[in-house]
Amino acid sequence: MKSINLPEESPGYVRDNFLEYPMTPPMPDGSVVEIADGLLWLRMPMPMALDHINLYLVEDDDGWFIIDTGLNTAKTRELWPTVVERHCNGKPIKGVICTHFHYDHSSLSSWLMQTFNVPLYMTYGEFYTLKSMSSGIANLGSEQQLDFYHRTGIPRDQVDVIFDKCRKDPFIKYSPPSFIRIREGEVLTIGRRRWQIIIGEGHSPEHACLYCEEDRLLLAGDQLLPEISSNILVSEMEPQAQPLTNWFHSLEKLKSLHVETLVLPAHGPVFRQMHLRVQQLIEHHVDTLDSIREFTLQETEFNAYQAMKFMFKRSLSPIETMMALGETLAHLNWLESNGDLMCQRSNDSGINTYLSTTITKKGRIKQ
Ligand SMILES: [Zn+2]
Repeated sequence: MKSINLPEESPGYVRDNFLEYPMTPPMPDGSVVEIADGLLWLRMPMPMALDHINLYLVEDDDGWFIIDTGLNTAKTRELWPTVVERHCNGKPIKGVICTHFHYDHSSLSSWLMQTFNVPLYMTYGEFYTLKSMSSGIANLGSEQQLDFYHRTGIPRDQVDVIFDKCRKDPFIKYSPPSFIRIREGEVLTIGRRRWQIIIGEGHSPEHACLYCEEDRLLLAGDQLLPEISSNILVSEMEPQAQPLTNWFHSLEKLKSLHVETLVLPAHGPVFRQMHLRVQQLIEHHVDTLDSIREFTLQETEFNAYQAMKFMFKRSLSPIETMMALGETLAHLNWLESNGDLMCQRSNDSGINTYLSTTITKKGRIKQ
């Protein structure tokens, strides 16, 4: 049992807020940093506020596996062959492993499968969610979707703008033709390393992390990010979902991994002190739940859109509004299931309204 040796005097070593960042990240232009023998950290550009994604290359005896694909942009497609030519020692690509369906992680999967003639490895839940997202774009604005948004209290003109932005999104439409299923607890042996599949929920339905116990390495996808909190969202597909409960469980599960594990996330720098990061992420949501509880004590009755405006005070783009509303619903669903809130789902307006059970118990609600 041995950690990858990255001493504090390594170039670029930073210790910030008790997380340790032992390596300088590569530039987001297809540059590569070697993390360990047969394990490369590749960073691709993204044309948005989050301007990069980390991808990883894992060496097998007779080729390489790609972990996540990058966005389906002309730039990323242009960079991939150069990366392979420069860094794969003349060995072919053997397969693509996608941690989850979000399009920065999977929208180039079809192209990579065709370009390198390789299979795609994914969990069942992620593959079929990707399929459903890409085919569902034609049905945007269905009665069921409109009802879902109407129930939140968001004005209809904002919903129309969200749908319009989604229709024009250049990345959603790609969907791979087939896959090889990976499951919780399975082990992929790649080269001398054994990678155990650990499934996380909350950010996406069946997110795969890959853990090498012997070298204490975790390919974490979006399940454990160092600098940002992953979006935890309720959508019209499952309005009563409890993604926050699932997220808490999944984070707790990661606490069973070795404390010295080097985490290889999809965004931000690689880092150590994962148990601390797990705790920070849990506390972030606990704080959010507390602040919503305070909001509920100020407001006699409120809807999800009003709670969203309380939680997210800055101005939001249409897609950010969709994500913020989904994240708000995730917290409201949690508070309702915990007995902190009551939700009235059948009223004349068709908008779901929430009441604090604390206020109700004190009799401050007019009957
Ligand atoms: Zn994601």
